[in-house]
Amino acid sequence: MTDSRNSRHVAVIGAGIVGASIAWRIAARGCQVTLIDKAEPGSGASSHSFAWINAGAKEPIGYHNLNRRSLEMWPRFSAALGDEVGLRWGGKISWEANPDAAEQLKARVDRLQSWGYPTRVVSAQELAELEPALEIGPVSAAEYSENEGQAEPQMVVDACLRRLRGLESSLMTGVEVLDFGRDSSGRIRTIHTTSQDIEPDVVVLATGTDTTVLAAKADVKIHQAQSPGVVIRTSPLPPLLNHVPVVYAPPLGDGRREIHLRQCADGRFMIGEGDQESLAEDDTQAHADDLLSRASCYLPGLADVEAIPVPVGWRPMPLDGYPTMGFTTESPNLYVALTHSGVTLAPVLSQLAALEICDDVRADAVLAPYRPERFAALTQREIDEMIHPRARHR
Ligand SMILES: Cc1cc2nc3c(=O)[nH]c(=O)nc-3n(C[C@H](O)[C@H](O)[C@H](O)COP(=O)(O)OP(=O)(O)OC[C@H]3O[C@@H](n4cnc5c(N)ncnc54)[C@H](O)[C@@H]3O)c2cc1C
Repeated sequence: MTDSRNSRHVAVIGAGIVGASIAWRIAARGCQVTLIDKAEPGSGASSHSFAWINAGAKEPIGYHNLNRRSLEMWPRFSAALGDEVGLRWGGKISWEANPDAAEQLKARVDRLQSWGYPTRVVSAQELAELEPALEIGPVSAAEYSENEGQAEPQMVVDACLRRLRGLESSLMTGVEVLDFGRDSSGRIRTIHTTSQDIEPDVVVLATGTDTTVLAAKADVKIHQAQSPGVVIRTSPLPPLLNHVPVVYAPPLGDGRREIHLRQCADGRFMIGEGDQESLAEDDTQAHADDLLSRASCYLPGLADVEAIPVPVGWRPMPLDGYPTMGFTTESPNLYVALTHSGVTLAPVLSQLAALEICDDVRADAVLAPYRPERFAALTQREIDEMIHPRARHR
């Protein structure tokens, strides 16, 4: 017997890592899926991502656990996709030269260990043994988080699209969603696009930073903050890091921020500064050269590569920094899927979205803190108070 819920037509708007994963999960459940993107799939925030899979930088414990669950799902998620997606495990190392920063590192390790997270303080000698290619310099404290890793968002998006081709689905690229036609109950009946009108049963909004504007067309308020980030690339190199894929190195003592780096599946390095949510807008060649020269101080093997600047990437960033997932009261067949850390979270959020959409259930025990309604009736003062500390008002 066919389940009528699973013969529904679901339009997923946005083919970044979040939308493509949801589209694939829903199509695999038997729904007819139309995936729409105004540009090339994967070319939004997903193409700017440092793509570090982690739960260590996530608080409070509920959000940490959501990220951790997703981190642990990654191997099964990629096996189900049946394609190479650039997954690499081996953990993350970070260290501090400054004694105050070292105390903060140790306090973070204590907290994470009390949550049962596999991270620990390591000696300078252990650090050097973990990654012999690094010139570590002075160490006041160092941390090794052994279960973290990396993926390549574009490879994930491409794998989802390949899987979709074998299912009941269609992909529309270069097609922008402009507006929605709704009935008296607020349900979306028609999606107006630059190409044609679409009449789905359910609409998933996975449009990253554009979600605020599109949701408003269905009378749904989703507040986002501005969160620009810059992660440069280099020309390709043979493998330089042998054990640990993700490295966070301390400031060089010149007032500039710490450096993070990882080597991609194609041999290129990605290099950024600050932490995962630091604001950065300098995407010039001079800044790229500067990031590379600072990274080379720690990884001398980078000395002769070329720094390739990458334009500023804008993180999809709900105002309080937490995911925004679920059907909306104003438009009952509109499902919002907006999140920061979408690379880490794609396996779990796509699974939960498919569950809620295909089975008509509410996974409230997990998603209650992340519902779109939390933005509905905010006053300006509450908006000011809610803003994520590492972001600016849009
Ligand atoms: C600099 C930077 C570093 C990051 N580092 C990490 C990290 O280390 N680890 C981690 O887990 N996360 C990281 N993130 C966050 C992560 O990359 C994002 O959360 C994730 O890529 C979001 O994916 P998405 O599919 O929601 O959005 P996007 O990739 O932006 O996709 C949205 C898509 O919607 C399409 N779209 C928009 N409007 C319309 C419309 N009207 N009609 C049709 N299509 C539309 C766009 O073209 C786009 O393709 C980082 C992000 C940035 C910018």
